[in-house]
Amino acid sequence: MKLSTKIIIALIAGAVTGLVMNLYGSSLFPLLDSFLFTPLGKLFLNLINMLVVPIVFFSITLGAAGLGDPKKLGRIGLKTISYFLITTAIAITIGISLSYFLQPGTIGQFDLSTAQYEAKEAPPIADTLLNIIPTNPVRAFTEGNMLQIIAFSICIGFALSALGNKVKGVYRIIEQGNDLMMFLVNTVMKLAPLGTFGLIASAVGKQGFDAMKAMGLYMTVVLLALLLHSIFTYGGSVALFARKNPIEFFKGFAPAMGVAFSTSSSNATLPVSMNVAQKNLKVPESISSFVQPLGATINMDGTAIMQGVATIFIAQVVGADLTLTQLITVVLTAVLASIGTAGVPGVGLVMLAMVLQTVNLPVEGIALIIGVDRLLDMTRTAVNITGDAACAVIVAESERKLEENQIVQPNLYEEETAV
Ligand code: ASP
Repeated sequence: MKLSTKIIIALIAGAVTGLVMNLYGSSLFPLLDSFLFTPLGKLFLNLINMLVVPIVFFSITLGAAGLGDPKKLGRIGLKTISYFLITTAIAITIGISLSYFLQPGTIGQFDLSTAQYEAKEAPPIADTLLNIIPTNPVRAFTEGNMLQIIAFSICIGFALSALGNKVKGVYRIIEQGNDLMMFLVNTVMKLAPLGTFGLIASAVGKQGFDAMKAMGLYMTVVLLALLLHSIFTYGGSVALFARKNPIEFFKGFAPAMGVAFSTSSSNATLPVSMNVAQKNLKVPESISSFVQPLGATINMDGTAIMQGVATIFIAQVVGADLTLTQLITVVLTAVLASIGTAGVPGVGLVMLAMVLQTVNLPVEGIALIIGVDRLLDMTRTAVNITGDAACAVIVAESERKLEENQIVQPNLYEEETAV
């Protein structure tokens, strides 16, 4: 049986188990959860989390060294960031339009007077971007600061390519380090069905379904917007710019989506999503290793959709009419908020406070949606990483075409081994 089939079966089995426990087995659930579901999930999650930092370092360094030419990296970077920004803006627009069409905040009784939500201090986005160059790389590694690790790895990659044969030994070590990590990802992935089962059974078992009934329409709007964005924006752009069958794209990437769904974390899924994009979608390692870690950190279309829908929902609940200028402000701040959202569970909701504050909506509104956010977080994380993979596929294809028309620069190290 294929791994993706196994993961899908595990997701369904986990959801059914969690649901049955939730509805009938309330006394049994805490026991099963603490001795079976949570340990299974946690073990898997720790195993893949263990690989994230070394994979990002090895693969980006290798990618930058392999690209050699800083101009090429600049070109790939420009294409990547353009795709990220444009698709994120489209995502929010879909979310906002659908919220106006289906009006989730006008149907049902929502009481904000008793709602309480303490807005957590969101990290200033300007700081995150300015601090991209680490003053202490070791700290960046221990803190798992993804943007800083990416910047450091690109520097090392460039130095490797500039110094060529002089540092051949280091290059080989990094190359072999990367092989080691990829081998470990493949091994850990064999446990993915068990891990996803545990994570989903635990999450569904703990979910309060009463909140879901009241928030049904809000959830429908978010899920529908996520679906539309995936099909039209990702499916469409992959077909148009990469000339790839969208169904094959989604099918190939399904194992990573399954893991993202169960972990609710773009960061934790990174080793899997890179592995799957390289193996199933045939994205060259040098492109996947640059586009996907960057995407897992700054490109969050699913999160942006939730933030757009939530803002309009809260505006409808309090009866605020947003002007066109305010709507444009929502789009711009939600793009920034999604860039600033870390790829870990639940942060999208913390960053939502920033969007609400810029258009003077009450942050207490977040209290209404927090109860149903877990399921939405799972789904939007799957969308978040799919956007990164779609971008990687498109950039890879455009680079391939470009290289077809140019004399290809041979890889320094391969040339050396060939001799
Ligand atoms: N969980 C999301 C992710 O990791 C971020 C969020 O929206 O909370 O991509």
